[in-house]
Amino acid sequence: MDTRSTCPYCGVGCGVIIESQAGAITGVRGDPEHPANFGRLCSKGSTLHLTAAPVVLQTRRLLQPALRAERTAPMEASSWDAVNKQVAEKLAATIQAHGPDSVGFYISGQLLTEDYHAFNKLARALVGTNNIDSNSRLCMSSAVVGYKQSLGADAPPACYEDLDLADCVFITGANPAWAHPILFRRLEAVKAAKPAMKIIVVDPRRTESAEFADLHLQILPGTDVALCLGLLHACIWDGLLNQSFIDAHTAGFGELKALARDMTPAQAARICGISVTDLLQAARWFAASPATLSLYCQGLNQSSSGTAKNTALINLHLATGQIGRPGAGPLSLTGQPNAMGGREVGGMATLLPGHRDPNDALHRTEIASLWGVDDLPVKPGKTAVELFEAAARGEIKVLWIACTNPAQSLPDQALVRRALERCELVILQECFAGTATAAYADVILPAATWGEKEGSVTNSERRISRVRAAMAPPGEARPDWQIVRDVARLLEPVLRPGRPSLFGFETSEALWLEHREATRGRDLDICGLSYALLDSAGPQQWPYPEGAAQGLARLYEDGRFATPDGRARFIAKPYQACAEAVDARFPFGLTTSRLRDQWHGMSRSGLASRLFGHEAAPVLRMNPQDLPRRGLKDGDLVRIRSRRGEMAVALRGDAGISPAQADLAMHWGQEFISGRGAEGQALLGVNGLTQPIFCPDSKQPELKFTAVDIKRL
Ligand code: SF4
Repeated sequence: MDTRSTCPYCGVGCGVIIESQAGAITGVRGDPEHPANFGRLCSKGSTLHLTAAPVVLQTRRLLQPALRAERTAPMEASSWDAVNKQVAEKLAATIQAHGPDSVGFYISGQLLTEDYHAFNKLARALVGTNNIDSNSRLCMSSAVVGYKQSLGADAPPACYEDLDLADCVFITGANPAWAHPILFRRLEAVKAAKPAMKIIVVDPRRTESAEFADLHLQILPGTDVALCLGLLHACIWDGLLNQSFIDAHTAGFGELKALARDMTPAQAARICGISVTDLLQAARWFAASPATLSLYCQGLNQSSSGTAKNTALINLHLATGQIGRPGAGPLSLTGQPNAMGGREVGGMATLLPGHRDPNDALHRTEIASLWGVDDLPVKPGKTAVELFEAAARGEIKVLWIACTNPAQSLPDQALVRRALERCELVILQECFAGTATAAYADVILPAATWGEKEGSVTNSERRISRVRAAMAPPGEARPDWQIVRDVARLLEPVLRPGRPSLFGFETSEALWLEHREATRGRDLDICGLSYALLDSAGPQQWPYPEGAAQGLARLYEDGRFATPDGRARFIAKPYQACAEAVDARFPFGLTTSRLRDQWHGMSRSGLASRLFGHEAAPVLRMNPQDLPRRGLKDGDLVRIRSRRGEMAVALRGDAGISPAQADLAMHWGQEFISGRGAEGQALLGVNGLTQPIFCPDSKQPELKFTAVDIKRL
C-alpha cells in the first residue's frame, strides 16, 4: 500500500510515498508530484523506512508510559491513566503553589502544526504562561526577527522556483549540498542548463557547496555583517544601487549609507580575510545580475548577532532591488521540517498564533477570543536558553519536553544538566528511547512519529504539506496532540472549574481548523485551504485566503511590504565580532557544521546504519599547516577544550579549513563520546563546548562559534 506523506528531516519538505504491507512500513520513495522534490530524495529521506523497521520499533522506541518515584529509582512501566494523572496533579499543585510561570514547555520544530497548536493552547490558555519555546529557537529565530524588522512580517518572500529563474545565487552561512541536498541538486541542474548563472558561496569552510561555486568568499567566522556592509559600500560607489526602488519602496537608507561609508571594500576584506578583488566581483554579480536569489541558514542564524546578519543581507537585496521579482529575494532555508509551522501557530515564547505578538494587547485579546478564554498571560515568556537558565536557578519547577533532546542540543551542556537535575518534574514526550534527556526524565510519555500520525507541516517556501499515517503507532505510543489533550482534560476541572473544555479535539483536522481561523486576515491567511483541498490538489503555499485559486509563489511583487506604511526598512547595525574572542589560552576558532548523511542529534538518522558510511565517528578538522605547529598529526586523538567543557575526538587535516580555525560536526552528543575530562569530569559532546550567549533580538544562541584549545591526548 502507498501512503503520501512528507520527509521528517530538513526544511526542504520533500514529498515521500511510504510503502507498507500488513501494517508495517517496508519502503519509501520520492513523490513525483510533490513540488519540493519532484520525486527525488537524498540519502536521509531514502532510508526513512529503515528507521521504522520492526527491529527498530522493538529496540529503539519508547512503547509504554513510564515513571519513577524519584530520580535515583529506575523507570517503571505504567499506564496512560496513571501517568496522565500524575502529570496533571503535579502541574496543578505546582501552578497553585508557585504560579503558572513555574512551568515551562520546551517543544520542537519536528512536531506537526497540529501538535504545536495543542501545546501552545495548553501553555497559554490553560496553564497561563508564555514559557513555551521550541528548539526552533536554535535554528530559525534570527531569520524570523530579521524578516520582521526588514520586511514587516516573518514571511520568506521567494520560493524554490526562483532557483530556476535566478541569474545569481548568493549562498551564505549554508552548505545546501549537504544540509538541503534536494534543493542543491536542483541548483546543479539549473547551472548545467544555464552556465552563465553565477553562484557565490560565503563560508569559512571550503564545503562541497563552495567547491561548486563560481566564487567562494572564505570569510573568517562571524564577519558576515562586515562583508554585507563592504558589498553595500561597493554597490554605492560603483553605481550599482537601484535608487528608484529605494526611493519608492523603502525607508532608512540614509542611516545605512552613513554606516556603510566607513566599511570600505578594503576594510571589509581585511576584517573578513578575503581579497578586495573577490569582494568587488561578488558585489557586481549580486547587484548587476538580472535576478539574484540568496539562500542562507545557520551560519547567519546561530550567532550572537544573528538578526544583524539577516538584516544586513536583506539590506543588500533592498538596496539593489533584488526582491519581489521572479528569481530574486532573500530565501532563508529552514533547518527543521516544521520550524515554519511552529512560527505560524505561535509556538514560541515571542510569538502568538497567526504571526501575532504576545506583547500586543490587541493580539492577545484576538487569540483569547478565538480560544474562548478571558485573557492570555502578559508576562514575557522565557526563550530556550533563558528557560533552562531559569530552571537551573530553581524558578522552573516542572519542565515538559517534547520531541527534542536538550541534554544534547542546547549549548553549555553543564548548565542544561544542572537545570534538568534541579527541576522537580521533568516530563519527556518522545518517540525514541535512550536520548540523553531521558536520563533526567521523571515521566516518559511515548509518542507516535513519522509514518504513524496525521497532520501537516510547512517547508522553507511557505508550502503546507500533509503528513499521513501508514501504520498504527507501535506499543502504546500516541500522537503528540492527543497526549497533550488528555493531560489538559484532567487539568481543566482544577484550573477552569465549571467552564467548557478547550480541548474537545478528536482529530488532528479539528486542531488544524482552529489554527486556520487564527490566520484569517493575517499575512499568512490560509482560510481558503482545507485538509480536503490539500488531499485533492496537493501541497499549497500561503497566503491562501478564502476565494483564492492558489497560494502566492512569491511575496511583495507589488512593491508593498508588510510594514504599516508598506515600505521595507533598512536596518543599520554595525559589525560585531563573535562573542567569544580567541586568545592565548583558547587560540582556535571552532565552528560547528552538519554532515551530509546525518541530521541533528541522530536520534532518527543514527538508526540507519548505512548513513554512517559517509562519516562513522566525530572528527575534528583543522588546516594541515596548523598540525605540525601544534605537534599534531592526522589521526591523533585530541582533546578540545573550551571555557565550558572538553571533548575528545580524532583529528583530520583538511585544507578546506582556514588556519587557526577548526570544525566539528554538531551531531554527536555524550552517548557517542567515551572517556573523561582532564579532571575526571564527563565529556558532554559538542555542546559541552558551545556557549549560551545569544543574539539580543532573536535570543538565538551562538552555536556556530567557540574559542577552543586543541591538544593531543
Ligand atoms: Fe528529506 Fe531534506 Fe533530504 Fe528532502 S532534502 S529528502 S526533506 S532530508
